[in-house]
Amino acid sequence: MPFGIDNTDFTVLAGLVLAVLLYVKRNSIKELLMSDDGDITAVSSGNRDIAQVVTENNKNYLVLYASQTGTAEDYAKKFSKELVAKFNLNVMCADVENYDFESLNDVPVIVSIFISTYGEGDFPDGAVNFEDFICNAEAGALSNLRYNMFGLGNSTYEFFNGAAKKAEKNLSAAGATRLGKLGEADDGAGTTDEDYMAWKDSILEVLKDELHLDEQEAKFTSQFQYSVLETITDSVSLGEPSVHYLPSHELNRNADGIQLGPFDLSQPFIAPIVKSRELFSSNDRNCIHSEFDLSGSNIKYSTGDHLAVWPSNPLEKVEQFLSIFNLDPETIFDLKPLDPTVKVPFPTPTTIGAAIKHYLEITGPVSRQLFSSLIQFAPNADVKDKLTLLSKDKDQFAVEITSKYFNIADALHYLSDGVKWDTVPVQFLVESVPQMTPRYYSISSSSLTEKQTVHVTSIVENFPNPELPDAPPVVGVTTNLLRNIQLAQNNVNIAETNLPVHYDLNGPRNLLANYKLPVHVRRSNFRLPSNPSTPVIMIGPGTGVAPFRGFIRERVAFLESQKKGGNNVSLGKHLLFYGSRNTDDFLYQDEWPEYAKKLDGSFEMVVAHSRLPNTKKVYVQDKLKDCEDQVFEMINDGAFIYVCGDAKGMAKGVSTALVGILSRGKSISTDDATELIKMLKTSGRYQEDVW
Ligand code: FAD
Repeated sequence: MPFGIDNTDFTVLAGLVLAVLLYVKRNSIKELLMSDDGDITAVSSGNRDIAQVVTENNKNYLVLYASQTGTAEDYAKKFSKELVAKFNLNVMCADVENYDFESLNDVPVIVSIFISTYGEGDFPDGAVNFEDFICNAEAGALSNLRYNMFGLGNSTYEFFNGAAKKAEKNLSAAGATRLGKLGEADDGAGTTDEDYMAWKDSILEVLKDELHLDEQEAKFTSQFQYSVLETITDSVSLGEPSVHYLPSHELNRNADGIQLGPFDLSQPFIAPIVKSRELFSSNDRNCIHSEFDLSGSNIKYSTGDHLAVWPSNPLEKVEQFLSIFNLDPETIFDLKPLDPTVKVPFPTPTTIGAAIKHYLEITGPVSRQLFSSLIQFAPNADVKDKLTLLSKDKDQFAVEITSKYFNIADALHYLSDGVKWDTVPVQFLVESVPQMTPRYYSISSSSLTEKQTVHVTSIVENFPNPELPDAPPVVGVTTNLLRNIQLAQNNVNIAETNLPVHYDLNGPRNLLANYKLPVHVRRSNFRLPSNPSTPVIMIGPGTGVAPFRGFIRERVAFLESQKKGGNNVSLGKHLLFYGSRNTDDFLYQDEWPEYAKKLDGSFEMVVAHSRLPNTKKVYVQDKLKDCEDQVFEMINDGAFIYVCGDAKGMAKGVSTALVGILSRGKSISTDDATELIKMLKTSGRYQEDVW
């Protein structure tokens, strides 16, 4: 095997890939079989034949999306809405997961495809069918299809926009005609929104010509019938994470009254946080260790998986949002799709307050696209002019809005000088503001030692607004929620702290009382080699060390059980490169020496500090070079390499450092060493869990 790749590990990796595939299919199958009693994700029409659904519903444009975390879905919906608002097209916007594509060649309309790339150039989990179909389509099989495509990717990954490029290549080989250029959003460069705007503007020009469209002043048409209800009943959501938690819904429970799964993106488990603690010793930054108890849920996780945490918005931000739109949080409303191909994005009926607190992403950066669709609701002519100008000028938008870290409410308040935007319909907000999505965390416990408890290690996002020193700090939703819980749970009087934001910790109908949060586990393929004698190199600065704490705990438990059984196992070298600013933010500092002792010298840690006083900044990449001979020898001996943490700078820097080490060690060119690293990645011997 090249580079000493171990046969056992290959077999296990192949098994893992298969298991992941089966798992993925299991999810799709489950979602397909799910009845639509309250399942908001189910599309009303059960028909999976894409051409038939388009034709039966008299659609004259189709937008498809294949989304992993919701971004592709978000952009697909924005694009669809713009086609409706500007050209009055009758657009169907659909998740590829919900349809079969054998009839794709018969779809009588132009198709826009939004596709995210996940992992090593992979299609999103829900796109298995779609990928299968287009990759196996014969030459000429799609000769009637006219499409355009927008890929969502990250250039810090090896296979940038790999899924979109693969889809594009296969569609073209099957004879389909692409209209306009392939769009490639780059999250790594932080330009997704601007990449989309540039692609969209060029595609709209192409479509205008192709379809002879006349542009009208954008006019919002809701996809839903909105009605106001009088009373809160058991079927009105107060922000429950899924319909399963409404009092009207009969929960599937075990004998101890614990809810039964499966738990996933459509239904989280309400997990008690049994312990949480602050990991940093400095006063200016925080990192929270939280332990979620999954007992009774039947959720199984493996070391290296991710935990998805479902947050709610801070009360201050909810208040600010309600205020700028002059909304009454108590209003109870219902939404009914006006079209069978549309789904309601969250449990309804609900209240305006609950929707804003639990279901909409109200705190993140505001997009230029949203500005252009808000022009129609500007409270006066001056604001309308300003909004129009900013929506067209990306540089001015960057200066006036993005660089100030404005969220929607901040931006609108700034534009109108506090005048309320009270003509914006609730349906517009529901359809235009992104949906709240769970945040993922690399699990820092080991399923061998903590079977029922999942640990996560989260750095709290909270920093002063660089452009506006007097404005409130810029904060992350979930990490500040975890910090609020940590303080409350450890009996700190929150009123006496200077927390930047506060939360309703009890949740809807007290569902989250006593420190609970909705969670689900997402499988990853970040796994230790199955053969314990295989050497392992781990590189994880900051919270990137999280899964490696899990890995090392796993090896400790394994060795202890082997010793107990009288087996004499020798572990391969486990070398961890860790980095922090100084000793105040050295994560799990007290635990590592214990692990080293228990692992009989097979575990070694190399630490880089980047902000020690009067000392040169040192990063993990530098330490890799310092340990060049050892690292090279380990790779030559078949070591598995793992990188976790920051995707932007660190992962690239590490890859470059390793290319250098291989090139010098093997006396080969940098290009050849780069190819070797690529091979290691493709074969699973170099794994990244970066974000
Ligand atoms: P968000 O609310 O999502 O905000 C994100 C960022 O935007 C923050 O920095 C926030 O300050 C900033 N922001 C807020 N408002 C604005 C605005 N108006 N304009 C511009 N910027 C704004 N993180 C960890 O700490 N530990 C882990 O182990 C870990 N593992 C991960 C594993 C995976 C697979 C992935 C994808 C991510 C992982 N992350 C991890 C990152 C994590 O998922 C979250 O992204 C992170 O914790 C921030 O979440 P948040 O809800 O607090 O911030």
